Amino acid sequence: MSDDCIFCKIIRGELPSKKVHEDDTVYAFEDINPQAPVHVVIIPKEHYDSVLSVPAGSDIISHIHTVANRIALKLDVADSGFRLVNNCGADGGQTVPHLHYHLLGGRSLQWPPG
Ligand code: AMP
Ligand code: ZN
Repeated sequence: MSDDCIFCKIIRGELPSKKVHEDDTVYAFEDINPQAPVHVVIIPKEHYDSVLSVPAGSDIISHIHTVANRIALKLDVADSGFRLVNNCGADGGQTVPHLHYHLLGGRSLQWPPG
């Protein structure tokens, strides 16, 4: 946990969020500025600054992907398709320094991203 991290505050219930999924190690909530009809942020409860901070041998990334699959099914975008995105670092577009994945779906997404 990091005292002033906004995603840690969401996990602690100090900031509001619209919960989509929660288990022992992962929390998922609706993005406050959605870029698609379905836009969910999936985060580990343990604070990592970015994906680079995850230790070798951790299963958290694998578990996040499993959770993403479940959310895609639950929100009915599994059949139509969806995108799971991790932004890492400044040039990668990461604005919140707590590891997170974006699950985007519900419309036809373009490639390449900007
Ligand atoms: P990134 O730019 O990859 O770091 O993504 C951070 C995401 O967190 C952005 O899509 C924001 O809209 C989202 N976000 C920031 N603050 C909140 C919040 N309080 N509740 C929900 N989503 C948030
Ligand atoms: Zn954090």
